[in-house]
Amino acid sequence: IDSGGTLIGMSSAALSPALKQATPVVVDYASGSWIHGTDGRDYLDFTTGIGVTSTGHCHPEVVAAAQEQCAKIIHAQYTTVMHQPLLALTDKLGDHLPAGIDSVFYANSGSEAVEAAVRLARMATGRQYIVTVQRGFHGRTVAAASLTTAGTKFSAGFGPLMAGVATTPFPDALRLQMSEEEAVAHALKEFDYLLATRVHPDELAAVLIEPFLGDGGYLAVPPAYLQGLRERTRRHGALLVLDEVQAGIGRTGEFWGHQHTADLVPDVIITAKGIASGFPISAIAAPEEIMARVWPGSQGGTYGGNAVAAAAGVATLGVIEREGLVENSRVRGGELLDGLRTGLAGIEQICDIRGTGLMLGVEFGDPAANAGGPEAADAARLATAVQQACIDEDLLTLTCGPTGSIVRIIPPLVVTAEEVATGTDRFVRAVRRVVE
Ligand code: PMP
Repeated sequence: IDSGGTLIGMSSAALSPALKQATPVVVDYASGSWIHGTDGRDYLDFTTGIGVTSTGHCHPEVVAAAQEQCAKIIHAQYTTVMHQPLLALTDKLGDHLPAGIDSVFYANSGSEAVEAAVRLARMATGRQYIVTVQRGFHGRTVAAASLTTAGTKFSAGFGPLMAGVATTPFPDALRLQMSEEEAVAHALKEFDYLLATRVHPDELAAVLIEPFLGDGGYLAVPPAYLQGLRERTRRHGALLVLDEVQAGIGRTGEFWGHQHTADLVPDVIITAKGIASGFPISAIAAPEEIMARVWPGSQGGTYGGNAVAAAAGVATLGVIEREGLVENSRVRGGELLDGLRTGLAGIEQICDIRGTGLMLGVEFGDPAANAGGPEAADAARLATAVQQACIDEDLLTLTCGPTGSIVRIIPPLVVTAEEVATGTDRFVRAVRRVVE
């Protein structure tokens, strides 16, 4: 990697420049909340591999479970032979699924699970349309990119995209400068209008939404909006599919992001990222009656539900329960939010400091202008400058949002009070260096 963060490789082949590197760090080893670079520096990791290393880097129990499983069987192809870790993971995941959601299908990545959910929704309903909510991120494969409206960079040049997708506005109170109540009423009206003007309710297979916006801006989705979608999908015989890939597994201070909305029971839950502390495994879960409407053999994959990843998943869920990490997410997240709000008070370039659990965002610029245009580019430059200044403070963060105006902070669920204090100090210093 050269000084500009470009991947230049070491011998006759190099990594593709299509990978955009957020930091120049090359990892030597990592532990808990820390990444130790080959440059000899110790970085506090508030990126967790984009919300993946839930139990921290290389949690001893996760490492032991994976090592043990490696010695037993690594690849037990699940449509050929079944293996114990997958049965155990399904059992453990079942403890956290809402009543009635009792059937699980495994894949490798968030995008693949999203594809599986689209297939399920269309086959189970015999309908074609999937409605997604603006600013949602669902992945980079064709179906997932077609559902993604968190920024044109995710779909530009990739078209034509999948047909049978329509997008409905997000209740974007901050950007629209409305109260949350007004924004929800506005967005639900627009959803009804979409069903009157483009997507006939009889052709609506599913509404697919993140219960907390991830890449689209680290924004909470108002519970009244989720309830409004639940009521409408039920009324029209469509499924409500929640993409919990980033918000699930304790990230927001509840096990699932949608648990912030009282009594909300979705039809399908998509999960990945934090479920196995970094091993690639993802899942969709739905009532068996719905899952059974997909032809046997139409869902599958060579690597899906890998045995080592599943064993790491069992260990991850065990650690989350035993160490009270959902509670830790809530408490440490609250401390971090308070610390950031205090330390960054009065900085006029910041328009919002928000967070639920350990999913926090600091937005720069004017929220009304962050929809695009030159002012949004200024806000994005500020956010990137802060993210880069954090690296100088040995703190790793990421940016997000449709125009890149938000710095997102994603500590592991094991983060300690001391690490929260250290991270807050480093972040505040980085911001002050940029804006003063
Ligand atoms: N859905 C959400 C909500 C995500 O945050 C992501 C990844 N950022 C995905 C889907 C896609 O997951 P993957 O990168 O594992 O394909």
